[in-house]
Amino acid sequence: MAKTICITGVTSGIGLETAHRFARDGWNIIGTGRRKDRLDALGKELGGAFLGLNFDVQDRDTVFAAFASLPAPFANIDVLVNNAGLSLGLDSVEKASTQDWDTMIQTNINGLLYCTRAVLPAMLARNSGHILNIGSVAGSRAFKGGNVYASTKAFVNHFSQNLRTDLHGSAIRVTNIEPGMLRTEFMIVRFKGDAENSEGFYEGAEPLAPQDIAEAIWWSVSCPPHMNICSMEIMPVCQADGGWAFWRKK
Ligand code: NDP
Repeated sequence: MAKTICITGVTSGIGLETAHRFARDGWNIIGTGRRKDRLDALGKELGGAFLGLNFDVQDRDTVFAAFASLPAPFANIDVLVNNAGLSLGLDSVEKASTQDWDTMIQTNINGLLYCTRAVLPAMLARNSGHILNIGSVAGSRAFKGGNVYASTKAFVNHFSQNLRTDLHGSAIRVTNIEPGMLRTEFMIVRFKGDAENSEGFYEGAEPLAPQDIAEAIWWSVSCPPHMNICSMEIMPVCQADGGWAFWRKK
């Protein structure tokens, strides 16, 4: 019987390419997102192997209701990819929008928690499953303007480790995938629709493609069941750490 993967944020970027990657190998795909037109388009493309769930991961009750009533053949989720997420703005803390902070915290942290909590009991009952969280290289580094976004990804890193510890003694695997610079709609969202500014970020660089991360997810899932990929940090060759910054008196 075909296995089932649930990918949050399947309407663009990493989520969309992960759906394509697993569909290629005959998996059933549950894909979530707020943009229903894009879920419908993916449903047309993938046919009966796709179930679209149209909800906002910030809405706890809706998340639990959606996962409580999954139809066959999607009822048993083998793999959950907690991918839905966003970054808003690049202002420093004293200037940043507190509304943007709330949205990032509610999506990148609370949304991930709700989906995990909704899916995990059935995995434990079957003693089988794999949860992959999409963190970021920003989760273990500071960069200018990264403040709350980077901190939500630090949460993803630490939660992934703690989840794995809670699940020790079961066969369930937990992986934190941490991408670096990657070309998706992420930057357009971060710059609130300002495509020119977001394009400028990539100028002259060769960023990762969402397909690269989809391959990493595929590989992590394809490893033998006794093997847990705990975390995987992936950067494009054009990206590296920049070292310390020093402010000096003149
Ligand atoms: P995209 O903007 O292309 O995709 C983001 C996805 O998340 C969309 O499908 C969007 O769907 C979904 N999403 C956002 N907010 C919500 C919400 N409240 N409820 C439900 N779905 C939501 O970006 P990426 O593919 O790049 O991002 C995917 C993940 O990768 C994110 O967690 C991001 O933080 C992480 N990441 C990205 C990097 C990058 O440089 N691109 C680098 C490191 C990590 P919809 O709008 O339809 O709801």
